[in-house]
Parts: sequence; C-alpha cells; structure tokens
Amino acid sequence: MNIGATVLHQLKKEIPQIEYERYIKQIEFNVEESKSDLVTFNAPNILVANWIKTKYGARLAHLFELQTGVRPTVEVTLAHAKKSSKPENDTPSKNNKPATQSLLNPSYTFDNFVQGSSNEFAYTAALNVAKEPGRIYNPLFIYGGVGLGKTHLLQAIGNYCQDQGKRVIYVTTEQFTNDFIQQVRNKTMDRFHEKYRLADLLLIDDVQFLSGKHQTQEEFFHTFEALKNNQSQIILTSDRDPKQIVGIDDRLISRFEWGLKADIQPPGLETKIEIIKKKCLINKVSLQKNVIEYIATVIDTNAREIEGILSKLHAYSKMMDKELTLEFTKDILKEHIKETQEHITTEDIITIVSKELHIKPSDIRSKSRKQDIVYARRVAIYLTRNLTKYTMPELAKFYGLNDHTSVSHTMKAIQKLIQEDANFKLRIDELSNKILSKS
Ligand code: ADP
Ligand code: MG
Repeated sequence: MNIGATVLHQLKKEIPQIEYERYIKQIEFNVEESKSDLVTFNAPNILVANWIKTKYGARLAHLFELQTGVRPTVEVTLAHAKKSSKPENDTPSKNNKPATQSLLNPSYTFDNFVQGSSNEFAYTAALNVAKEPGRIYNPLFIYGGVGLGKTHLLQAIGNYCQDQGKRVIYVTTEQFTNDFIQQVRNKTMDRFHEKYRLADLLLIDDVQFLSGKHQTQEEFFHTFEALKNNQSQIILTSDRDPKQIVGIDDRLISRFEWGLKADIQPPGLETKIEIIKKKCLINKVSLQKNVIEYIATVIDTNAREIEGILSKLHAYSKMMDKELTLEFTKDILKEHIKETQEHITTEDIITIVSKELHIKPSDIRSKSRKQDIVYARRVAIYLTRNLTKYTMPELAKFYGLNDHTSVSHTMKAIQKLIQEDANFKLRIDELSNKILSKS
C-alpha cells in the first residue's frame, strides 16, 4: 500500500461512512506528483476536489505528517488537469525553478470573478497591477473577511502574469514560513533567496499569520526589500487592515501600507446570485433559477460555502438519481438553515431586521412613523408571525399596534408585496434564513 492509500485508510476510520463513500472514495493519490512537502490527490471534478480540500485538507496533512514527519501541503486537483509544462526556452531567463512552487488554481481568473460594489475597488486594483506589475501600486494589499474572494483575486493576478511569461510565486504565509524553517535547517538559504527574490511577482496569502513569527518576519522583510528594489511586484492578502494586525513588526506593517490597500466587503444578494451562476457554469452544474436564488438566500455572506453546497447538491442528486428541484434542494440544505422554530425569539428577529435594514433596534418597537422605520417594523411583524408561535393579539401588543386587525393588515400588505415583487420576496427569504440560521 502506498503512503497515500495508508493515509486514506486511516481517514476512513475517523469519518462517517457516508462521507467516505460519497467523497473520499472518489479521489486517488497521485504518486508521481507527490513529494514529502506537497502531496497531490486527483479528483473527478472540481466540486469533489474543493470539498475534500476544505473539509479534510488539514486532517490529511496531519495524517501525512504522522507518517513522514513533514507536514505537507495537500493539493486536490482534477484528474485530467495537467501541470502546464512549457518548453524551457519559453520561460523567462530566470531559471532555477523553485522546488515547491504552489500551483495556481486555473479557475481563479479575472473572468471568473464576479464584480459588485462590494469588491469593485479591489478587483480594479488587482487588474491594474496584473497589467503593469511593479509599476503602479507596490505592494498591493488586499484585505477582507473569510470567503470574500481574496485568494481568488490574488491568484487571478498570478494566472494573468504567468500567461505573460512572468515568473510568479504564489505561497500561503504558512508555506513561506515552513519553507524558511526548512531551508534554514538544511542550510540552503541560497536556494530560498533565489526562489523568492528573483520572482517577478510574489503573491503571499494571509499575511496575518506572520503574527508572532519574528524570524520569518525578519526574512520576509529582506525579501520584501530585495523585490521592491528590483521593481518586482508584491501582493499580499490578509483578513484585516494592516493596522489591525498584532504581533507583526512595525517596519513590516508600514511596508504593507506603502502601496495600495484595497478591501473587500461582503457581497449583496445580487452578487451572490451571480457568483453561484458563475460557479455553476465553471463546474458544469445546471440549476434552476429558483434553486440558485434559494441558495443565495441561505448562504451567509461568505462565498466559500457555495462550492461546498454545490458539491453537496451534486453528490446527493447523483447518488439518489434525482433532479435538483427546489424542494429537494431545501431538503438537502436543511441543516444549513436549522428549521427549529421553537428557538426563535423576537429579539433575534429585531436584531437581524434592524441590522439588515440599517436602523436602530429600539426604533422597531417605537412609535416612530418615519418611513424606513415603519417598513422595518412591518417586515419584523411579518417575520415574527411566520417564524414564531405568537398569536396576532400577542404581536399587536409587542409591537405596539392597536389590535390584531392591524397585524392582519400588515401581514396582507407584505404578502401582496411578496407576490408582486420578486426582489422583495428574495429579501424576505434572505432575512428569514438569516434568522433561522442564527437561532
Ligand atoms: P478568501 O481568500 O477571501 O477567504 P476565496 O478567494 O478563497 O476567499 O473565495 C472563496 C470562494 O468563493 C472561491 O471559490 C472563490 O472563487 C469564490 N468567490 C468569492 N468571491 C467571488 C467573486 N466575486 N466572484 C467569483 N467567485 C468568488
Ligand atoms: Mg484565502
């Protein structure tokens, strides 16, 4: 049994059988392309690949580490995806290919990135940098919450410039750190310098993880200076603004701020719908419009969930040989929205409605007749009636209405809007799902 098979065998013992049958069984260890610090599995499609990487990547790395003493990076790639092997004379003169250069995900391109107001600035900055690396903003620092597309944009720059024949190094901060430690240990720092300092573009993902690692920071500082002097482009991502990163030396933080900082905000509903459509297209999954909209209302702001959900839907429909109707989708995604109405409180509803509609929680139960407050109050009443077991008289009392006929009037008005306006319906669905998943 090869080491990959041993590891998978071990994993099998740790996870539910159904998970094993559904996903793990579909992947194969790629003996030829694996090394001690980079192991590769082949998956039949990108959905399974992403699912396994997200859910089991860390566990697999750990199981390999137990076997070999080295914690590898785990890659799960498409079975038919070949590493781009350009002829030697096609690549720029800087030779000495690095030992462990991370592969870029070929689907993380600018074309596959959905633009919306939440990410437009970062997108434009990234595209400009890709077109003229080292010339305009150096470094480019992209920051924002989990799953908002930072890695995607970073790798889009990488893919773009690699296609132009540029020497691109993409690493996670963790890989950079491990690489550094290993080369120090092996006394091969020359190789380390060659690898990082001769790049045309150095892309480092999640630099917040440099926090507390002062030796790596020191090395990174010198790498940064060398690259900057060469007019090579540096692009960094982080989950927060440089100012808010603790445990990183001031001189590095100030370097992070030298060029351009671009943040990414959580996407709105329309952008989420477009992202799902894009992912369906890329992964050749076809979903009905109402299913797509439903998924968009279920997922929080984080797009990372999308591929997990698509992969889950895909796997289930294949396994059960069923078409993905809205009903079937709802059924599968039940755990995402925990339909436990008993646990929902009026406070949950008021908190979420006021936050989403940008008004103060205390305004909802006030006597204010301001238009946006009245609107939010009506939405809250509608949702409370639908999601809890309160009676109409109870609701009238709670929300300060005259009597139950006012509640009934509100319910009818909102129902009418829902029927007439598909966008309004989507927003109400989204709010419901948010409330259901918070409780
Ligand atoms: P981050 O690095 O910010 O945590 P990722 O770049 O890993 O997030 O994005 C998570 C997933 O969501 C990826 O599959 C990515 O392609 C997708 N995604 C996020 N934002 C967008 C977007 N605007 N357009 C297309 N896909 C997106
Ligand atoms: Mg990322």
